[in-house]
Amino acid sequence: MRVVVTGGAGFLGTHLIRALLNRGDEVICVDNFITGTQDNIRNFKSEKFHLVEADICNQFKIKGTVDFVFHLASPTSPHDYLEHPIFTLKTGAWGTTNALNLALDKQAGFLLSSTSEVYGDPAVNPQPESYWGNVNPIGPRSVYDEAKRYAEAVTMAYHRKYNLNSYIIRIFNTYGPRMRLNDGRAIPNFFKKAFTNQDIIIYGDGQQTRSFCYVDDLIKGLVKLSNSNYHLPVNIGNPMETSILNLAKTIIRLTNSRSKIIFEKSLTDDPKVRKPDITKARKMLDWEPGIGLNQGLELTRDSFIREQQK
Ligand code: NAD
Ligand code: UDP
Repeated sequence: MRVVVTGGAGFLGTHLIRALLNRGDEVICVDNFITGTQDNIRNFKSEKFHLVEADICNQFKIKGTVDFVFHLASPTSPHDYLEHPIFTLKTGAWGTTNALNLALDKQAGFLLSSTSEVYGDPAVNPQPESYWGNVNPIGPRSVYDEAKRYAEAVTMAYHRKYNLNSYIIRIFNTYGPRMRLNDGRAIPNFFKKAFTNQDIIIYGDGQQTRSFCYVDDLIKGLVKLSNSNYHLPVNIGNPMETSILNLAKTIIRLTNSRSKIIFEKSLTDDPKVRKPDITKARKMLDWEPGIGLNQGLELTRDSFIREQQK
């Protein structure tokens, strides 16, 4: 297959590209490096890997045939999308439309990387795909949440109107090697602080929950979905729910750190709970995660340490 990966220089993009190259695909990575890094793709230098440096909010062209478009480009960490609010909205709207038009033009398949944030601060827990969500449309997080909700809507419209072979994955908090230590998300941030014995800041009382999925599990689910015949959204995540306080304590323990935990005011509209209902992924894709939080955090810790020693 000849595939395009938008956002291929980011955290998930680099893991996906590695998996696609391993299965023999030729990969064209489209990225503008707003949150991705050259470092992430430096090992892909081969005749099967090509980089197109472009902002997908502007129309972009890919020469030759394309069989599949994996559309991952978007600021993702709350730290990043709050710093780039308009850009995030444009990427979700214009960027997704440009990526869809590329797939349509090339008669290629298309996968949208959506998010559990479409459920907002959910009133039901766990969240099945049938839940429509609880998003504040004008809150600070809406630049990401509504961009992704629009991206889902326009993807379904292309599917219905043009019969586009499209897929929508709703990704729940995923972590692992090659996250940027300073990207602001809880896991890299807590590791960064723990490594240097600095205070770990928890926003709120730490009782808010997330369900963290190790990146290898996520990529397996994503690839399975792209090979399926299922065109409605599918949750991919690890249903093992944990409080943020427990996450911080676990990372302190795994790093033998002397960091203290400090509590600050909670973030506006921060979801209080999050846990995927993965019944659909189990049934439609025969997928479920295999790596638990402790094991995944150990693997992540070791990779961060290796990176720092380079
Ligand atoms: P990331 O920030 O590490 O990577 C995003 C990549 O997209 C970066 O390389 C960035 O430079 C690129 N990019 C952003 N806007 C662009 C634009 N307009 N044009 C070209 N390139 C652009 O994020 P990630 O964690 O790898 O997430 C990838 C995708 O998965 C995103 O769409 C995100 O919404 C989705 N997702 C991720 C998670 C997670 O936990 N990692 C959870 C839910 C959804
Ligand atoms: N969080 C925190 N301290 C940090 C980073 C995050 O307390 O340094 C909290 C954040 O308020 C949220 C949870 O950890 O409740 C997960 O945040 P993250 O940014 O990783 O992802 P989100 O699920 O909010 O997109």
